[in-house]
Amino acid sequence: MDTLSTIVLASGNAGKLREINELLAPVDIRVASQSDYGISEAEETGLTFVENAIIKARHACAHTGRPAIADDSGLEVDALNGAPGIYSSRYAGPDADDQANLARLLNALADVPDGQRSARFQCLMVYLDHEGDPTPIICQGTWEGKILHEPRGSGGFGYDPIFYVPTHNCASAELPAALKNSLSHRGQALQQLLQLLGKVNSER
Ligand code: IMP
Repeated sequence: MDTLSTIVLASGNAGKLREINELLAPVDIRVASQSDYGISEAEETGLTFVENAIIKARHACAHTGRPAIADDSGLEVDALNGAPGIYSSRYAGPDADDQANLARLLNALADVPDGQRSARFQCLMVYLDHEGDPTPIICQGTWEGKILHEPRGSGGFGYDPIFYVPTHNCASAELPAALKNSLSHRGQALQQLLQLLGKVNSER
């Protein structure tokens, strides 16, 4: 694991780590989770996804001396003016779990009719070569959908059971993992990142 080319994945979210590892499996890049290095989670003090992603990646670089990939992601609901947004993981409180966040969102949208339940997942993914890297690679993926009235399916994590995917007429939690990865905000951002990383490496 601890080779010079190992990239640290700066996340403690088990669902995200599983998806990012699945996406990276076919690629010749060694990645290790920051928990393998015993690193605590960085405090997300930014006001934008990109700030938080950089904070997380920089934290992982600083504590490992390795390059790091971090993503900051969340759900924007139009009827709530973009909430929960960067606060998606803490929507129902600082220690809220997925169930509590999802319940709060359904409650907030209880009176919102079908035609006004549009939403999207955003993912900002960054790569930092080292702690002081002044030119992070920054990629963004967006996945459009709608918020369902009740949870469906058991796959994925977070808000997946209430995120309706119009192109596949089902909830994100009903998609097979590989299909979700090929469509999702995180999958899109990571594909861009891999292309850019390949380009950077071939120019060195
Ligand atoms: P972060 O760890 O601060 O980036 O928080 C991301 C939060 O956004 C997660 O805890 C989920 O609540 C939500 N989220 C992000 N991506 C997804 C996804 O692919 N499915 C469901 N929820 C997601």
